[in-house]
Amino acid sequence: MIQSELLPRISGFIDGEWTGGPAGAAQAVINPATGETLAHVPNMGPAEANAAVDHAAAQLARRASARRRSEWLAAIDSALQAHRSELARIITLEQGKPLAQSVGEVDYAASFFRYYAGQVEHLDPRRVPEASRPGRWTVHQRPTGVTALITPWNFPLAMLAKKISAAIAAGCPVVAKPALQTPLTAIALWTLLGRIDSELAQPLNLVIGASGPIGQAWCSHPAVRLISFTGSTEVGRQLMAQAAAGLKRLALELGGNAPLIVLDDADLEVAATALISNKFRANGQTCVCANRIYAHARVVDDFAELVATRVRKLRVGNGLDEGVDVGPLIDRNGFDKVDRHVRQAIAAGAVRLVGGDPPRPQHDWGCFYPPTVLRGPIQRLPFGCEETFGPVIPIDSFESDDEVLLQANSVEHGLAAYLFTRDADRAARMVAALHFGHVGINTASGPTAEAPFGGFKQSGFGREGGSEGLFEFCEPQTVVQA
Ligand code: NAP
Repeated sequence: MIQSELLPRISGFIDGEWTGGPAGAAQAVINPATGETLAHVPNMGPAEANAAVDHAAAQLARRASARRRSEWLAAIDSALQAHRSELARIITLEQGKPLAQSVGEVDYAASFFRYYAGQVEHLDPRRVPEASRPGRWTVHQRPTGVTALITPWNFPLAMLAKKISAAIAAGCPVVAKPALQTPLTAIALWTLLGRIDSELAQPLNLVIGASGPIGQAWCSHPAVRLISFTGSTEVGRQLMAQAAAGLKRLALELGGNAPLIVLDDADLEVAATALISNKFRANGQTCVCANRIYAHARVVDDFAELVATRVRKLRVGNGLDEGVDVGPLIDRNGFDKVDRHVRQAIAAGAVRLVGGDPPRPQHDWGCFYPPTVLRGPIQRLPFGCEETFGPVIPIDSFESDDEVLLQANSVEHGLAAYLFTRDADRAARMVAALHFGHVGINTASGPTAEAPFGGFKQSGFGREGGSEGLFEFCEPQTVVQA
């Protein structure tokens, strides 16, 4: 069982108090690297979910001043930095990613609180001097209202941080539900919030339990005005349907299926290095992981060899162990999906350059999958239409810019894409034609707190980060005074 000074209690948090669920109902949190039970968390349901919203709604009228909110955000940034080692250890224990990446996640999470601490002032009322109608016109940014946050397991801290930081900056009370595989990081975050200031923690409610009933309760509760969700496209669609009757605002950060394109004039070393650091982050389980690699026919053999050489050196193991590059997949479902993609690809004629058949797991908790490199016709393989979410690199070749643009854009998702070329004009032309919300040129870097991040097409809508991410939590109110 996990022992941590950031986990003095393992429970939810409602109306400023640590709160459990129904008696006897508890869920185990499993270390995906070892199968060890780390803790039992409460299994809260619609009663707790609704109570959390009622308490959050009562806090709306008690919004703290802009200055106070900014100070709180700065204090959370400091608290995360002060506890980065312990937070990282908890992330690795329940999520599985290598410790250095967990430390990186804590830093990334802290950067959102730091950034929004400096953005609160931008919510001051804006005069509209150019208004053509008589009167004094101003636009005020009001908090949207009670905000329901639902987050996935792949970044247990960062995905919550992106949303909570903007909610605090805007003055929105929160009801939050982390993924059941990784609730301990969320509990640790709430421990820190409570220690900073009970007034800060009061409007921030944490509900832990089965997602379906909690999601349904929040989609139906009239006081919830915004649902900010990060997760799969499938669940995003479901929430949108459930929230339609109440005309709730939605911010949906959904799945991706990122192409990485290597043109014939690219620096192949740069492209290979960027691909490896992008692809194996969180063991291949991020929404911005390159899932389809297209290299120009003139360079594809050399590029595939550079990638394969690097992948052969990766060390798979428990993320707490020194020198491990790739940890376990989160659970048996994740393993089965990756394995199905690889088997279907090989059956369809793909050639495996690196990897091998893993032993079939005898359990449901996380499983190790060997880093794999495949060569094959991506459009006809599972990667051509489905996000893999695992340590697999499929490489295909193309002949022309138009052909690869067509292939890159052919999926329903539009989250992230990467392009490698030395030709700036060619890059500008191609980037404009890529239907993705985040595009890297000669880098496969993910998002940053200071810029908006979000998807096109079925990768969702709404943005996190940047001033755009803050305005998701605000409702503009126009006031005209005679
Ligand atoms: P998921 O199954 O959609 O789950 C995400 C969250 O939604 C979890 O908290 C889950 O809770 C909850 N959930 C599941 N079904 C629900 C329902 N019917 N009503 C309300 N909540 C529900 O996704 P995942 O497998 O955890 O995460 C992987 C996906 O997230 C990938 O597709 C990835 O691309 C995407 N993602 C996107 C971004 C982005 O910024 N666009 C970032 C990270 C991940 P339980 O786990 O407790 O069931």
